[in-house]
Amino acid sequence: MRYAADNITQARINCAETFKLLEQYRIPPTPDLYKLVYDYITDRNDIPKGEVDKAMKLGAEALHALVLKRQGMLDSPDEGSVAETGQKISQKVEEILLTLASHSDSTGGFSDALTKFSGDLQGENGAVTVEKLVHDIMVETHAMRDRTQQLEAELQASASAIDELQCSLNQVREEASTDPLTKIANRLKFDRTIAQEMSRSPDREKPLCLVMCDVDNFKNFNDTFGHQMGDQVLRMVGATLGENTKGRDLAARYGGEEFSLILPETELDDAVQLANVIREAIAGKRLIRKKTGVEISRVTVSFGAAIFRPGETAAELIDRADEALYHAKQAGRNQVCSERDVTRSKISVAG
Ligand code: GH3
Ligand code: MG
Ligand code: MG
Repeated sequence: MRYAADNITQARINCAETFKLLEQYRIPPTPDLYKLVYDYITDRNDIPKGEVDKAMKLGAEALHALVLKRQGMLDSPDEGSVAETGQKISQKVEEILLTLASHSDSTGGFSDALTKFSGDLQGENGAVTVEKLVHDIMVETHAMRDRTQQLEAELQASASAIDELQCSLNQVREEASTDPLTKIANRLKFDRTIAQEMSRSPDREKPLCLVMCDVDNFKNFNDTFGHQMGDQVLRMVGATLGENTKGRDLAARYGGEEFSLILPETELDDAVQLANVIREAIAGKRLIRKKTGVEISRVTVSFGAAIFRPGETAAELIDRADEALYHAKQAGRNQVCSERDVTRSKISVAG
């Protein structure tokens, strides 16, 4: 990575241009976003200019996701392992290329030997008998066969080493985006997916919905039955969300006892319908305490759904889904509310 120190005058010019761009896209000049745009202006640190262009137009959230992505590649230990494994793979590929190169040298040697024998046969060296020639060709041919077998073995060993590395690379990638308790997507994966899906849904042709979910009275549940039972509930909620999402839908643990669903190409009514299916599935589950075999209180979840308005930031979309979720809590919990319910209630209060 290249780093060129700027002199004060140049740095001031860059700084002014960075602020101008941040202002133009109404992006707050927080240190990480400022640095990304400064790098963009000065085209340094291998900045992906196209990605920054797109993210700036989407707003601070998308730009922040890009910062996370870049930091992830550079700093995060999990992504570090991804990079390390990737490097091991390219090392192996280099080894194969070297082996092939040395094999091609030895093939060249074989071909030179054959040319020499051919010259001998044509009488350039009258002292050589046909028997000696046949013997020498045999020796050379056996040596060639041995080298080919060795090459085959080396290539096979390299191929299986690459297979193994590829497996561990996939595993590390999976772990970096999975919540260890519930085994569904984690917050990092959520942040990345929402930014990605927002950039894929630039208009109303491709509706995108977000559903925020929060376990009802979970503090009470923990206080009554203990944190281990609490964790079991979170696993059950995560599993039910995961079972009911498919294709490009993403079920993620947003944090604590809060979950979320990212539903691309889904209208608000369909998002509400899916949330109700999940809500009923969770409310219908019986939780048995292993120690006593006795059934404990049912668990319910409240949901808030919102639809992406092209041009808004992820934070704005999350806020509206949160507001709908709060509405569901206020309305008595164990229900699904959408941003439309919030608007209706505001109108009726005003009227
Ligand atoms: P509400 O219906 O309004 O959401 O009430 P609540 O009690 O669920 O909400 P509150 O935010 O007051 O409490 C959330 C609780 O979730 C607090 C904390 O003990 C619990 N919690 C958060 N993360 C975990 C976790 O990983 N495991 C367990 N067992 N509990 C958690
Ligand atoms: Mg909560
Ligand atoms: Mg809660």
